[in-house]
Amino acid sequence: MSRVYNFSAGPAVLPEEVLREVADEMLDYNGTGMSVMEMSHRSAAFQDIIDTTERDLRDLMGIPSNYKVLFLQGGASQQFAMIPMNIMKNRVADYIVTGQWAKKAWQEAGKYGKANKIASSEDKTFSYIPDCSDLPVSPDADYVYICENNTIYGTKFHTLPDTKGKDLVADVSSCFLSEPVDVSKYAIIYGGVQKNIGPAGMVITIIREDLITEDVLPGTPTMLTYKTHADAGSLYNTPNAYCIYVCGKVFKWLKAMGGLEVMKQRNEEKAAILYDYLDQSRLFKGTVVPKDRSLMNVPFITGDKAMDEKFVKAATAAGLVSLKGHRSVGGMRASIYNAMPKEGVEKLVAFMKKFEEENA
Ligand SMILES: *Cc1c(COP(=O)(O)O)cnc(C)c1O
Repeated sequence: MSRVYNFSAGPAVLPEEVLREVADEMLDYNGTGMSVMEMSHRSAAFQDIIDTTERDLRDLMGIPSNYKVLFLQGGASQQFAMIPMNIMKNRVADYIVTGQWAKKAWQEAGKYGKANKIASSEDKTFSYIPDCSDLPVSPDADYVYICENNTIYGTKFHTLPDTKGKDLVADVSSCFLSEPVDVSKYAIIYGGVQKNIGPAGMVITIIREDLITEDVLPGTPTMLTYKTHADAGSLYNTPNAYCIYVCGKVFKWLKAMGGLEVMKQRNEEKAAILYDYLDQSRLFKGTVVPKDRSLMNVPFITGDKAMDEKFVKAATAAGLVSLKGHRSVGGMRASIYNAMPKEGVEKLVAFMKKFEEENA
């Protein structure tokens, strides 16, 4: 067996310790004589798994008691519709468009009401976060929406926008649990788990309780109503049980590592290794305005398509994989999520230096 350093944006690297643990429990979970994959979601054993998973997430993030944690299917993209269907009561919402995921969410919301684009960074290929200190927030907006970490472009909101008192909704798919957050600043925080937490196929939505009502837009399906899942403890229908179990293992791993403060330090240290090198390289350059750089997704280019391709190919052969940039932007992107060890980033930078020497 040989593992590679996997820089994929998602599905992405998981902690090796977690993979070993779930492998050990594959045939017999905790004396039940079966795999979690084979287990009834109504069993006591599974109830214990989902309860523990939620409790550990609440501990890690310090989630206040007036917020519900929902384990939902349909990925982050399903939330693009579910959010307006449930909370766009006035049928007005303000969107800050900082990349493709935010743009998709904004376009989807437009199906349900007036979705205003109140700021954007599309003029410079989403390479920065716009100034959000004095936005034209609509007086009747139900919420202000952001994508907090832009997976494709490698930007991050390091300061939350001033929403002028409106509820803030954030897609945190690619920065979930990468650093401490103050949940009380948000109305909804949600993310697909396949970026920084677990396997694909689930989204975790953390939502303030007063937003969970039966007063949703007409025609909203039962399955797309937050109240359905909140009332049923995320067990209205069969959930992605195995994914919940693996996420629970990752939460235990994060706690054992020391929690989100420690993860933040680790992530800053890892990102600095890569950005410091990019800032002095004569071959590679980062594409993002330094103050808005993401700790999780690091895009870079040589400025020459053929050279980019040569690099990705050579890196792959050296066991540094999935470095190709998103199909819409090209170049390279190294996603260095929580589970990427520092050693992986050091190996990448050492390889880039050598490649630079040979190709500059
Ligand atoms: C990957 C991603 C999505 C889409 O996630 P799916 O689970 O595939 O729907 C949405 N938002 C962000 C920020 C992402 O990184």
